[in-house]
Amino acid sequence: MKSKADVVIVGGGINGCALAYELSRRGKEVVVLEKRWLAHGATGRCGAGIRQQWSTEENALLAKRSVAIFEHLSEELGHDIELRQGGYLIAIHDEDDMHQAKENVAMQRRIGLPVRIIYEDEIREIAPILDVKGMDAIAATFCSTDGHANPFLTTYAYARAAERHGASIHKFTEVKDIRVNEGRVTAVVTDSGVITTPVVVNAAGAWSPHISRMAGIAMPNQPVRKEALVTEPLRRLFDCMVISFKHGIYFSQQDHGQILGGIPSPEETTGYHEEPTYSFLRHMAYMLGRYAPPLKHINILRQWTGYYDVTPDALPILGTTDVEGFIQCNGFSGHGFMIAPMTARLLAQLICGEKLEMPIDRLNISRFKGGGVVKEKSVVG
Ligand SMILES: Cc1cc2nc3c(=O)[nH]c(=O)nc-3n(C[C@H](O)[C@H](O)[C@H](O)COP(=O)(O)OP(=O)(O)OC[C@H]3O[C@@H](n4cnc5c(N)ncnc54)[C@H](O)[C@@H]3O)c2cc1C
Repeated sequence: MKSKADVVIVGGGINGCALAYELSRRGKEVVVLEKRWLAHGATGRCGAGIRQQWSTEENALLAKRSVAIFEHLSEELGHDIELRQGGYLIAIHDEDDMHQAKENVAMQRRIGLPVRIIYEDEIREIAPILDVKGMDAIAATFCSTDGHANPFLTTYAYARAAERHGASIHKFTEVKDIRVNEGRVTAVVTDSGVITTPVVVNAAGAWSPHISRMAGIAMPNQPVRKEALVTEPLRRLFDCMVISFKHGIYFSQQDHGQILGGIPSPEETTGYHEEPTYSFLRHMAYMLGRYAPPLKHINILRQWTGYYDVTPDALPILGTTDVEGFIQCNGFSGHGFMIAPMTARLLAQLICGEKLEMPIDRLNISRFKGGGVVKEKSVVG
């Protein structure tokens, strides 16, 4: 392992690997430290969805600009990331939902997203398996450029491209401590040695509060267990991701035909609880059958759990801290895969002293000091 680096990134998920790529292609000497394997955290357990329909402009812009990157990423990184843009169909259940949807759509269209409100006939046209009454929906919003990509392939593609630009990626290497001297980061202590560095990026997902604590910084993030499942493969039935903020359900059909989805379990908890629950399976199977009756009798192949790294406003924590050289890249709540490409680009610009393509000041950890944060409303669970 190298004994010094320009930047050390803690965490080999999508965000750590994407940032390693963006930094190393700018000429920085980068080391990524991952305590297990690449995509071991939330990245390898996620729903793979890429959605631009958010209530806050920060999330919507990060997602929109990430989609612009995703659209050329296979070519840029030299590996197919299995991007498919079948759209996101978000259920509207009542007048309150409709009011919020209209506000969201107005903002989303203002920033250039092709979002619209659709009604029963069009919902059925887009996804014929849906039962609008079973969904308890009066309408939906739809954005045709939303979609999904393979989180494993995307992470590996970023990692390989970073390595081609000279980055070193160390798996099975755990960060044990961060050394800080006179308010500045000086080194990272791992179970395999010490790396001196002026910049450490905390991209440790649900474990980011531990990494921050090593540098003497308190964080408001909480790990929340989330569950997901995948079914046997079926012939192609629909192309969009279906989602409801009220019921918390989301599901899509993957490239190879499986249905992948999740819903908050009645037993969902805060803290590091990894066990999958039977109550999730029952609840998901019941709701999936209500939303899409043809899926009632299909076989579930596998279920798993992962952590959301949840912030009080469901917006990520990005940028500088009171400790010079300690950079936050976490708090992605339930959407850190879809905004990773733009997040990585912005943090690389920040670290390299370039002009940022969009401001990220409102995503700085300092926003929690004064209270009064604006909460992202378009979240599941
Ligand atoms: C069930 C589920 C469904 C989801 N669905 C979606 C979705 O559809 N779309 C979407 O955009 N997002 C989704 N998410 C959220 C998304 O997965 C995360 O926001 C995103 O993957 C976070 O990536 P990351 O790289 O920041 O963190 P992670 O992928 O969690 O990576 C952090 C890494 O840090 C490592 N690490 C921790 N501590 C240390 C240490 N001390 N030393 C070294 N390494 C360490 C961990 O091992 C881990 O690999 C979902 C999440 C879950 C759980």
